[in-house]
Amino acid sequence: MPKITETILSLFFPRRCPFCGDTISTKQQICKLCEEKLPVVTGKICPRCGRGIDYCRCGSLRFHFERCVAPFYYEGIVRKSIINFKFYARQNSASAYAFYTADAIKREYSDEHFDFVTCVPLTGAERKKRGFNQSEIFARSLARELTLPYRDTLLKPNDVRPQRDLTAKERWRNISGAFCAAKQLNGAHVLLVDDIVTTGATLDDCARALKAAGTKRICCAVIACVKLGGEAHSL
Ligand SMILES: [Zn+2]
Ligand SMILES: [Zn+2]
Repeated sequence: MPKITETILSLFFPRRCPFCGDTISTKQQICKLCEEKLPVVTGKICPRCGRGIDYCRCGSLRFHFERCVAPFYYEGIVRKSIINFKFYARQNSASAYAFYTADAIKREYSDEHFDFVTCVPLTGAERKKRGFNQSEIFARSLARELTLPYRDTLLKPNDVRPQRDLTAKERWRNISGAFCAAKQLNGAHVLLVDDIVTTGATLDDCARALKAAGTKRICCAVIACVKLGGEAHSL
């Protein structure tokens, strides 16, 4: 957007912090106070799930994707903001998530060369009910931030029980076989995107479907990862 247009627009529609709603400058993604509260993933990171090793329960688990990265943990202001995003899908939130996720991708995936970005789909009924797929809105923003094309590649033909109500073991069984690829993707190198990751079962089934369609290599990116630990999430 030209600078003058941006300045005029900001007089009428001030840019707002996606986490607290306070007015911010056009140069800022979020306000200073929220920036200090971000639950950033730091320290030694698991090369498979992307969490700090204290919160990883990968064990001997092997995924159909190579790796996952997330800039944040799913807690505090990030959790609150993502819950909001599921209902309103505001573009300023998507842009801020994309900004931080792209940063993590450039750092962690510096050796990877992606052909395109794709995302975890909803069923037709789920999409109709919500009016949009929040993961797709985030994935499209992320693709723009990374100057990569976005492509719809996956389908979720049938409803499954919501993953949030299930234990880790049940999540794997529940989502297994839920996704399929809409087209052949021979030799493609794909960045697969979702909003959050818990056990990794959803991303894994999407990656399985992408592999079945000929995809060569899949890396994942999410806005936030749930810290694993305790009975409910142990694998
Ligand atoms: Zn704020
Ligand atoms: Zn891990």
